Amino acid sequence: MLRSNCSISFFKNDLRRRQLWDGKCPVKNCSININSHKVPFQRYKGKVRYLPYCPEHGIRIHSSGFVYYNGPSKEDLMVATKRNLMFYSDYYTANFLKKENKLESGRLCYESSEDAVSYNVFAEMLSDGHALKKLVCYITKNNVGDNVELYLWGGKIDLKHNRFLPYKPLLDVRRHLERDIKRFGTEPDIMLVVPGKAVICIEAKFGSKNPIAKEKRETEGEKPKGREKLIERYCKKNRIIDASTIFDFSNTPKLFYEQLFRNIVFAASMAKLSGASEWHVINLRNQHVMNLKKGRPESMPIMRNIRSILKPKYKKRFSHLTWEQIYNIAVKGNKNLHNLTWYLKNKSLGCGRAFNIL
Ligand SMILES: [Zn+2]
Repeated sequence: MLRSNCSISFFKNDLRRRQLWDGKCPVKNCSININSHKVPFQRYKGKVRYLPYCPEHGIRIHSSGFVYYNGPSKEDLMVATKRNLMFYSDYYTANFLKKENKLESGRLCYESSEDAVSYNVFAEMLSDGHALKKLVCYITKNNVGDNVELYLWGGKIDLKHNRFLPYKPLLDVRRHLERDIKRFGTEPDIMLVVPGKAVICIEAKFGSKNPIAKEKRETEGEKPKGREKLIERYCKKNRIIDASTIFDFSNTPKLFYEQLFRNIVFAASMAKLSGASEWHVINLRNQHVMNLKKGRPESMPIMRNIRSILKPKYKKRFSHLTWEQIYNIAVKGNKNLHNLTWYLKNKSLGCGRAFNIL
């Protein structure tokens, strides 16, 4: 069984852009032949798939990047995950890897993990006190006060007390709208909550695209896939809010972004239950990836599409931000966040630069 004791992290300057499957490790000047070392990746149709591995650098090589991999045990996974978490990695392992607080908690060791980037950026912004407030002021165009709470994957991130507490309004909305959903209930990636004032849901993308509704049949216990069934479940049967005052489906565009749609329903419903006076939904994307993937689904313009299903009064409750904008709004120039600045400038994706931040 292959293992590695490597405990360091790799950033864009440590890596070289490589040819797909050129047989070499992406870490600069590494001479290991990765094809002579293979480690398990996933089980598919009863068979285990193996991928090339560099034991010296403890990374499994995928077609579009790498994954930190130190070995097969749970302790190995903790080491690997910590290598991808530059901030508060002990809090993450204590509250997520050791407890059942997050689905797919073992995937934060992926170079391309959206969750790892969200965790690094937002947990570190939370530690500063001003950064999240600046961001919330930008989103709400309002001075909403000092008390901004951060929720990731449905629970409150409490670094001070090393606690993770589920957000009750989210549980209540799920109980109402998704009682029978067994696989993957709705879970906004990131929430910023100012108690009594604002609920902001952020759907974060790092390298991937926004999912769209498909006219396919779902299996039992799954969320609906088709547009009409989504509207039926989340709007027409919604007794928490009167969704007909928010949505206008008379000119629904061809592409129906189902995840963002559910985020809007949940944001409005949670705001109602928690007594917050406003709600917002943000689609957070990567400008660098959008530039590279012009014309592909990853770069599709989203604002007009989503706003076209919202009534005039609510159109501005949905907006689009990039990680690069978040850097400019809330991180740049803040001396307490110089480590986060370094992270954003040096983070890799596909062994190249991740963000357009110079
Ligand atoms: Zn190597």
